[in-house]
Amino acid sequence: MKIKIDIKSNAIDSLNESFAKYELGENGELKAFKFSILHLSHCIELVLKMYLQTLDENLVFRNCFRKVTKKAKEENVDLLAAFHLLEDEGFDFENLIKGHSNPSTVNVTEALSVAKCEVCTVTGGHFVDQDFENDIDWMKSLRNSIEHFEFEFTAKDVRLCIGRLVRGLDIFTDVFSLFNLEEEIGKDKYHIFEVLADEYEHTLREAKLEVQETKDAIFRGTRPKHQMFIEWNVYTCESCGNDTMIPDSDSSTGYKCTFCDNEESEDIEVDCDICGCPWPNGEMTSWVDTYAYVCPRCDNPEAW
Ligand SMILES: [Zn+2]
Ligand SMILES: [Zn+2]
Repeated sequence: MKIKIDIKSNAIDSLNESFAKYELGENGELKAFKFSILHLSHCIELVLKMYLQTLDENLVFRNCFRKVTKKAKEENVDLLAAFHLLEDEGFDFENLIKGHSNPSTVNVTEALSVAKCEVCTVTGGHFVDQDFENDIDWMKSLRNSIEHFEFEFTAKDVRLCIGRLVRGLDIFTDVFSLFNLEEEIGKDKYHIFEVLADEYEHTLREAKLEVQETKDAIFRGTRPKHQMFIEWNVYTCESCGNDTMIPDSDSSTGYKCTFCDNEESEDIEVDCDICGCPWPNGEMTSWVDTYAYVCPRCDNPEAW
């Protein structure tokens, strides 16, 4: 019982630590993301071990895990079924680690390989989905090549992956009744969890960050006295309703929503083919065989 409590409080500590670094990363200290990932991967490893302990307290030890692997091969069943067979036979796992003062424990991949066997009795679907597994693989590769961190991954990749992992973790701890992530997170870090755990909020936040980052990049690359000539508009996207439509050189309309990729908006200004003044394209008239965009003033001069 003591081990269980230690693993849990360690896992929560790592998560809070990961969030603290994440916050620093978001505030511009990019290197902090690296530590955010290290702490998060530690947390995930511990949570997976907690899951193993719900089956048998000793299953976190590699000797016991190997016994299950061997049984699975012998009986040609998956790891979870093999464990239950041993359990039914009354196998004493504790016996395998007796006398070892510091027995080695399983790694993330080994722990996950058991959890992956868990199937929902109602839907028949696996509890651990492929996305969560892929993200854990990504996290492992990142952890292994952490020295090359700055070169191989963009801050946005890292932010989004941390977000997905935290959401996956939230589901995992809930499905296996390990603990309630929401309740365990410190009050001062809760706002970070909230955003990371909510995919929409998180993606939207990314979209807004991209608006700001693109703007900063454009203005940074232009001399102060030329900055007044930059055409920088942010429109409200008609498709998703967010203020996230910004100039995009690859877009056919010249604008693209950073949240939903929509390129169309009647608010986007185009130049009048007659007088050259910019107008929202929704108010433009097109004249048959002559002009594609005619502003209201040129279209009906008497009214002005
Ligand atoms: Zn949009
Ligand atoms: Zn005009």
